[in-house]
Amino acid sequence: TMGDFVYFGAGPAKLPTTVLERIQGELLDLGGSHVSILEMSHRSPEFMKIVDDTVAKARKLLNIPDNYQVLFMQGGGTGQFSGVPLNLIGRTGKADYIVTGSWSAKAAKEAEKYGQPRLVAPKPATFGAIPDPASWSLDPEASYVYYCDNETVEGVEFHFVPETNGVPLVADMSSNIFSKPIDISKYGLIYAGAQKNIGPAGVTIVIVRDDLLNHALPITPNVLSYKVMAKENSLHNTPPCFAIYAVGLVFDWILENGGVEEMERRAIEKSDLLYNLIDKSNGFYTSVVDPSCRSRMNVPFRVKKDEKVEEKFLKEAKAAKFLGLKGHRSVGGIRASIYNAILPEQVSRLGSFIEEFAANN
Ligand code: PMP
Repeated sequence: TMGDFVYFGAGPAKLPTTVLERIQGELLDLGGSHVSILEMSHRSPEFMKIVDDTVAKARKLLNIPDNYQVLFMQGGGTGQFSGVPLNLIGRTGKADYIVTGSWSAKAAKEAEKYGQPRLVAPKPATFGAIPDPASWSLDPEASYVYYCDNETVEGVEFHFVPETNGVPLVADMSSNIFSKPIDISKYGLIYAGAQKNIGPAGVTIVIVRDDLLNHALPITPNVLSYKVMAKENSLHNTPPCFAIYAVGLVFDWILENGGVEEMERRAIEKSDLLYNLIDKSNGFYTSVVDPSCRSRMNVPFRVKKDEKVEEKFLKEAKAAKFLGLKGHRSVGGIRASIYNAILPEQVSRLGSFIEEFAANN
């Protein structure tokens, strides 16, 4: 997005302007190599250094322990709906799923192809809350417990780490990774498509503990095998070179801006601003998400619970240079996605628009 325009899309999402400018500046000649990142061999020393440096930056930002691999894979978040069971469910054939929204529901469904996924709590009719952990029925023989840390469509985010009593914990962090510090040691595996908080579409980051590399089903395709990818430093086949390079630049930007601690501070400030406006609007704006699990990344809300008014809201928002605010096609309404690259000052401007719209309608 350029100039005063702010793009609040859910993903692919806004990238820091300085990162886009840097990409533009070195697109024809990467670091004096006389070759573009779009042309460069993935086996060249220049590119292999980019992979190594990008892994090192991820390790630094999230304080990733040495007994975890950092992998760059393809197939997106959806690829990991298969990748996770293909690699992990072979241990016992069973897996537990905590379903809190559309994406974890899709992951649980996909896992049925590879074993026996089970829901730890009944699936609610509509999403907007995390079932009380005291009510979860966890199977001690599950190969893993799976959950989605931030449900991008419904705006439901975990503000705690689920306790699994020693069963490996697997998290889809596609829409909130690098938005806060994470105690990696509590997880067996974390994965995230890059296209929200950390880069363009095309690469999926997988952080996986070493002891989980040896349970893949024999049918696991090599491109989805954590063991194969770990052994070959994510270069089993041609990787998404450009996306990995861009992720490295976004990591630099996060490091320069105070790291994930500062991203979290900003995320709290930005999301609090919007939820406070919604809550004090006397029902003009409504959120269906329980305050205990409201997302700091995706803020979905309705305007007067009226599609016509929402259309007007979106039209006027666009005229005020706010783009990408339409809710997911499955739930409608409005959704402001406020990932790392959206600055507090830009959310504050959106807040003023939200207040003015309520005053005039
Ligand atoms: N998980 C989450 C939390 C997501 O938000 C998305 C995509 N928006 C996916 C998984 C699916 O990712 P992809 O489109 O990369 O397959």
